Amino acid sequence: MTREERRGAALPVPGPSNDDHGLGGLGPAPEDAFLSVRNLQVHFPTDDGVVRSVDGLSFDLARGKTLGIVGESGSGKSVTSLSIMGLHDPDSVQMHGSILLGGTELVGASRDLVRSLRGKRMAMIFQDPLSAMHPFYTVGHQIIEAYRVHNDVSKAVARKHAIDMLDRVGIPQPSRRVDDYPHQFSGGMRQRAMIAMALSCDPDLLIADEPTTALDVTVQAQILDLIRDLQGEFNSAVIIITHDLGVVAELADDILVMYAGRSVEYSAADDVFNHPQHPYTWGLLGSMPRLDRETTERLLPIPGTPPSLIRVPPGCPFHPRCRFRDRVGSPCTTERPEFREIAPHHHIACHLDAKDREEIWSQEIQPSLGARS
Ligand code: SF4
Repeated sequence: MTREERRGAALPVPGPSNDDHGLGGLGPAPEDAFLSVRNLQVHFPTDDGVVRSVDGLSFDLARGKTLGIVGESGSGKSVTSLSIMGLHDPDSVQMHGSILLGGTELVGASRDLVRSLRGKRMAMIFQDPLSAMHPFYTVGHQIIEAYRVHNDVSKAVARKHAIDMLDRVGIPQPSRRVDDYPHQFSGGMRQRAMIAMALSCDPDLLIADEPTTALDVTVQAQILDLIRDLQGEFNSAVIIITHDLGVVAELADDILVMYAGRSVEYSAADDVFNHPQHPYTWGLLGSMPRLDRETTERLLPIPGTPPSLIRVPPGCPFHPRCRFRDRVGSPCTTERPEFREIAPHHHIACHLDAKDREEIWSQEIQPSLGARS
């Protein structure tokens, strides 16, 4: 099948769900939302079938706030960030739903419009700065060029700005290091330089995709502190994408947990850590090492592996790995759980009723997490 045939292949266009008129389980965007995503679907037709990388995602983010998007590899986190940034090949992706950035709709927007927003309205810190930065150009050149795309200034002014930005992210001797090439920086310094580049145009939205994965623990903490400090200074809206709940524990205001391309839990960070409600979040917390406290308890891995996004299990996509599905019975394997609000600003997608959730939490999950905390 050719690429054109794949693109033209009949793919059911997701319509609004019966309950919320396409808002993906959330109501209309709150007034202070700078970024508002509703029922986002990102699909890639391939020869083997349609890869449903994101299949009904909704969240809001205000300026000055941080959202942590958490899930295992293949849960759709990075595809979500690339969708917001408009970085998918338009010939191979099918997108539906809505991404509203500062009042501008990005789903279906022209490439020119999205390109004009990158840098100034939104910027991204990639997981691997060595491959994201061009090896042929100096670090300073790359910051200068990014800055001059959106600001009508001379090279000298842009160079001074680049040195200032390197200084602000903690690069020693910035007026000398500005002329270094990426390979002359250590891993931590490259990540700092990428943050300097991303923030050089003072973006309203900053997306950091696994910003600390390749770094050792001490540098990791420094980079997270840096993102937090700069967010306070620039008042940006920040999305941190990570597979590690620990990374966002102290950074995020809200947390969105993703599984198989879908939102399974979305709430204030305090609620997700102190009173989570979804079996997958319980599993993530149970498998998370706690370095801040002494414990002799073993970590509890989530059994099995995430599903293929071409053949997502029917019903709840987590059901093959969920040890609580027998409490519910057949709906877990036949009916997709609705993403619904169970308390103010706390949404989950699970068939368990409130009584069962509370019983499991208080009798089983909380004691086992408590024994480790
Ligand atoms: Fe488990 Fe069923 Fe809830 Fe899915 S819907 S998380 S299978 S209890």
